[in-house]
Order: sequence, then C-alpha cells, then structure tokens
Amino acid sequence: MSATYPDLETYRRALFAPEDEVLAKVMPEAVAEGLPKISVNAEAGQALNFLARAVGAKKILEFGALAGYSGIWLARALPPGGKLVSLEVNPKHAEVTRANFKRAGVADRAEVRLGQALELLESAKADAPFDMAFIDADKENYPKYLDFALAHVRVGGIVCADNANGHGHAHEVLPADDPRRGLQVYNERVTSDPRLVSVCLPFGGWLAVSLKVRE
Ligand code: SAH
Ligand code: MG
Repeated sequence: MSATYPDLETYRRALFAPEDEVLAKVMPEAVAEGLPKISVNAEAGQALNFLARAVGAKKILEFGALAGYSGIWLARALPPGGKLVSLEVNPKHAEVTRANFKRAGVADRAEVRLGQALELLESAKADAPFDMAFIDADKENYPKYLDFALAHVRVGGIVCADNANGHGHAHEVLPADDPRRGLQVYNERVTSDPRLVSVCLPFGGWLAVSLKVRE
C-alpha cells in the first residue's frame, strides 16, 4: 500500500468517498457564510450518487438543498439531459446552492426552487415521474414528503431520507410536539409498506433507503 492512514475510518472514507476540490469547499465556505453545518457527509453523498446511478436516474427530486452539497453528489450521477429539482425554503440557502451548482458544473441539470416544499409539490408534479427522491428538509413533514414520493417515483426507483436516526433519538419516546416524531413515523412506514423494500445505511445521521418495488 502506498499511503498510510491513522485509522480504519479514514482509510474507508479516503478510498470509498473521496471529495474533489469543489465538494471539499462547499460546506466550509457555507459555514463561513453563516449556514448551519448540517449537510450529509461524504460517504452519504457517495451513497446517493451510487444509488442514483444504480437505478439509472434521469430525474431526481430533493427536499432541502442547504448549500447544494448533497445536490452536487446527486446531479453528478445524472446523464446529459437529466434533471435534479431541489426544493428549498430559505432564500439565502437557495442562492448559495445555485452558486455551488454553477461552480460544480451541474447548473445545466440542477435547479433550485424557492418555497415551502409542500407548496412546491404541485409544480413538481409536472416533472414526474421521478427515478429518485431524497428527503432532507423539515422532519415533521417527512410523512407528507413520503406520500408524494410514493405517488410520483416510478416502480424500480428509490426514495431516500437523511437523518433516519432522529439526531440520535429515533429509538426514544419523544414529546408529542417533537418534529423528529415525523422521522419515526417515516421509518415505521418505509419498513412496513408492501410497496417498499428498505435498508438503512448508517452513514452520518443514517440514510433510510427504500426501493419502490410495486405500485
Ligand atoms: N440536503 C442538504 C442538507 C439540507 S439541510 C445536504 O445534505 O447537503 C435542510 C434544508 O431544508 C435547509 O436548507 C432548510 O432551509 C430546508 N428546509 C427546511 N424546511 C423546509 C421546507 N418546509 N421546505 C423546503 N425546505 C426546507
Ligand atoms: Mg440531513
């Protein structure tokens, strides 16, 4: 082996989820601009890219853009003419994401739509069916986003959600008003709905990955 690594995790990440220069700068620069450090990590990004390629995704819907970190991993999986639609409620986040999509060379295929995700879904129907949906916005609405994804992702496509571990609290009885209850409902639904086969990839805050196997 030519390089040495301080530990196994560093080894795994260096080999399986290397970031290029653009990706490596997205979150540090966003944080310097005051955005929260809540993107997926590189391994989750690589998993999103892998999954999109595995299902031959041409159209992907993302809920929650932040600075475009996950969106870049997703958009890079798209063939020419492919399309990522990313829904984002925060104007500053949308602006930073658009700039990062340009910088990453995916602005021709990655679009940010500004507004409450639930209110943007009517317009997203015009782009359906999707090959993949990635849910990573407000946690209380995960079940509603799942309803949309189930209706508008094709059979053989993927529905994926970040933060399936509920910020480390998914296994607890949470207060009635805790938004992470939405995640718990989400996890229970994707693991029991006969239309889905699901697996949890425990990168970062955990990706719940579901394959839609029938209507
Ligand atoms: N997917 C990104 C991280 C998203 S963080 C990545 O991994 O790189 C969650 C984002 O969802 C934030 O930018 C937040 O502004 C946005 N968001 C929160 N509530 C929303 C809503 N109701 N509709 C659309 N976007 C929302
Ligand atoms: Mg997240």
